[in-house]
Order: sequence, then C-alpha cells, then structure tokens
Amino acid sequence: LTEITEFDTIAAISTPLGEGAISIVRLSGEQAIEIANKVTRKVDLTQVASHTINYGHVFDPETDQNIDEVMISVMRAPKTFTREDVVEINTHGGIMATNLVLQTLLSNGARLAEPGEFTKRAFLNGRIDLTQAESVMDIIRAKTDKAMQQALNQLDGSLAHLIHNLRQEILEVLAQVEVNIDYPEYDTDEMTTKLLLEKAQEVSQQIAGLLKTANEGQILNHGLQTAIIGKPNVGKSSLLNVLAHQQRAIVTDVAGTTRDVIEQMANINGIPLQLVDTAGIHETDNKVERLGVDRSLQAINDADLVLMLLDGSRPLEAEDQRLLSLTQNKKRIIIINKMDLPQALEIEQLPTNIQQENVVRISAVAQQGIDQIEERIEQLFFTGIENTANNAVVTNARQVGLLKQAQQALEDVKSGIKNQMPIDLVQIDMTNCWDKLGEITGESAPDELITQLFSQFCVGK
Ligand code: GDP
Ligand code: ZN
Repeated sequence: LTEITEFDTIAAISTPLGEGAISIVRLSGEQAIEIANKVTRKVDLTQVASHTINYGHVFDPETDQNIDEVMISVMRAPKTFTREDVVEINTHGGIMATNLVLQTLLSNGARLAEPGEFTKRAFLNGRIDLTQAESVMDIIRAKTDKAMQQALNQLDGSLAHLIHNLRQEILEVLAQVEVNIDYPEYDTDEMTTKLLLEKAQEVSQQIAGLLKTANEGQILNHGLQTAIIGKPNVGKSSLLNVLAHQQRAIVTDVAGTTRDVIEQMANINGIPLQLVDTAGIHETDNKVERLGVDRSLQAINDADLVLMLLDGSRPLEAEDQRLLSLTQNKKRIIIINKMDLPQALEIEQLPTNIQQENVVRISAVAQQGIDQIEERIEQLFFTGIENTANNAVVTNARQVGLLKQAQQALEDVKSGIKNQMPIDLVQIDMTNCWDKLGEITGESAPDELITQLFSQFCVGK
C-alpha cells in the first residue's frame, strides 16, 4: 500500500448541498494548485504562500465568463489533510454557483472524487490510520457532544497508538523466539514457550480491557436502540416527545392511534438514544394494526433498552402483564406514567422479580420525573468506561470483530503451548494475532477492505 505515492487530482463539493452562506469545493493532488489557477482570475495561486486564503474570481476559460467571487485556500503538501497539495474554494453557496465551479475544475483537468477519497488518500499517504479514518466518518455523524468527543479522541490516534504498541511487543517476542529457534544451543524450548505464554497473557489482558470499552463506545457512536412499549394510551407518544424535547409523534386520545413505529433521536446527557415509539401490542385482526404489532415485537427484539410504560391512573390489566412478561429479559425501565392523576395501579401486582430501582413514576404531560429516567439510563449502560491506555475506546463492530479474532489467536497460542505443540506452530498463531491487530489500524488490511470501508463515506470527505 505504501508504495502508491502518485495520484491524479480529485475534486468534490465538501459541504452539504443546499442553501448555505458558503460552500466549499475541495481539490487534492499534484496539480491541485495548477488546475485551480487555470480557472482563477485576480490572483496567481502558484505564487501565493502556503496555508493562505486568497480573494479571487473563478471563471470559465473556455467562455471567459465569470462564475463566482470566491475565497481560495492554498495548502501545499505535506502539511495538509491528504498530504497532497490541497485547494479549497469557498464559493457563495447556492447549488448553481457551487456546481459550476466544480464543473469548471473537472473540465480543466480534475477528476470527480469518489466517496471518501480524500480521507482514503490521507490514509494511503500515511497521515492517518484506519481507526482515524473511521473517526472522520463518526465526527460527521456524531449526534451528541459526548459522541463527538469520543470521535475526536480516536482521530487523535489514541486507539491506533495502543494497537501499534501491542503489535510492537508481539513483534519483539516473535523476533526473540526466532533467535531462540536459530540458536538452540543458547536456549531451551522451555524459555521460548515461557516468553510466548507471558506475552500472550499480557496482550490478551490489554485486548480484554479494550473490549470492555466496546459496549459504551458503540453506544456513543451509534446510539442506544430504545423501544417505548405499552398498551394504547399509556402515554408512549407523549414520553417520546418529552425525551426528544420536540413535537414529533402524533398524540391523540383515541387508543391505538400510533399504528406505525416512529423513530426519533434523543440526547440523554450526551448519550444518543434512538427512540422507537411502538403501537400497542395486542392481538389484532386489523391488517394495518397487525403490521404495527409485528414491528413492535421486532422493536423489542432489536432494543438495547426497553422503556415499559404503565398507566398509574388505571389498575394493571392483562395487556400490561403480557408486555411485562414479553420484555422481562431485556434491560428495561418500568415507567408508571400519569402520576398527576389519582393513582389506581397496585404496585404489589407487578412481578416480584422486578428491581425497585428500575421502577420510576413520572408524568409525561407535566414533565415530572423525566430526569429519573435519564439517571437510570446512565446507570444501566454507563458504569464508566474502564480506563485503557490513552483513553483508547473501541467504537465499531469492525474493531470489535478483529479484536475478538486477535484474542482467539492468543487463546490458540496458550492452548498450543499447553498441549506442547511445536514452537513454529505456536508462532503462527502469535503472528496471526499480530495480523488481526494490524487490520484494525490498516497496517495489514487487504485492499478490498479498504475500498469497501471508504466507499461508506459521503462524497467530498
Ligand atoms: P400512546 O397511545 O401510548 O402513545 O399515548 P399518548 O401519548 O398518545 O397519550 C394518550 C393520552 O394520555 C393523551 O391524551 C395524553 O395527553 C394523555 N397523557 C399522556 N401522558 C399523561 C400524563 O402523564 N398525565 C395525564 N394526565 N395524561 C397523560
Ligand atoms: Zn402513541
């Protein structure tokens, strides 16, 4: 991978399309400055100092027509995002002007960038590793400040550094083992296996520590899938609205109105929640309703967290019992709603295995007790990430999968030694661990993986 150093010049609109005060068209590559200069008047971009922003006009050299009055940043390699020459043209926004600037650049020697290609170049040019590239995507998608902070940490390379150090340690042991095999007169198998075993245990512990961060890391990154469950009219839509701090679901007095599953993002003390409001799950013959019920069951299944609503102003009904038992194996908070009304629900009727601390009383309408829900969510999911070296946190399924494979390779090392397998076989397992860790950062990642990973990005990043 590292031998690829020459690339053509790519261009794309790097800001979201639509009305905005400014849009940015970005160029990267050996000819970035030259191409931008071809379509610019009033300033000679080839002469300006690096990392400056310059006033000028973009025009079409073919028709001699002015396109837009712009500000152009010129950044010469290697201190740029891609480590190539980068030019960023700040246009006046509006789809027309921005598109015309891009078109003109494309007619004058640039190629339209593929999704994620700028970030891919940063990776291929060795400026960032794969975990950092992933964090670029996470930053773009971050829904809360906590999620953003985590992504920034990863962009900083905290996970990459930790992985890199682990690989270095493994490499040193492998080298030592190699020496021991080559010069058996200096050493015994016993010492070699001891060395391998110790390192396997040590690295395994570190990986276990990292994997412990995965749960919280992924929740911050992707949000906590949360299903709001309850019979019709308990106040699901009302609670969803309160949690999301905005009107979104339709609230009505008619039981069974929320037939569809409605999704909404909420930010609970920095934890992104993907809220799903479900139709009441009762047996039904109505087709539309049936669809809603199936999806509700699906929503329970998929949920990381269930918010199980009961109506405090009414006695517990068979439907409530059914939902309580349907959700009993999920992480759940039992919410007794409508505490502003006279209470009719007998707490003693609730299943005895329910933990009291997971029962809260609220009023969705009066917005009382909502903070208790927020506290419970934090306590259920955020025991506090155990500190790993440099606060490295695992943030996605790809990283988790590879860490588990690396962990398995270490288990193979241990059992190989226990079963007195030949050292060179044990060595293969250790090398395998080293490889899997390398895939996380991209040091030993196959080309297809890299192509696939970057294709998930949006154009212009
Ligand atoms: P859903 O069918 O479970 O989604 O319930 P809704 O959120 O649509 O609420 C049904 C009815 O109960 C509406 O008239 C709400 O205004 C009312 N409601 C919801 N929460 C409360 C509450 O805490 N107190 C009172 N008094 N009424 C509520
Ligand atoms: Zn509803």
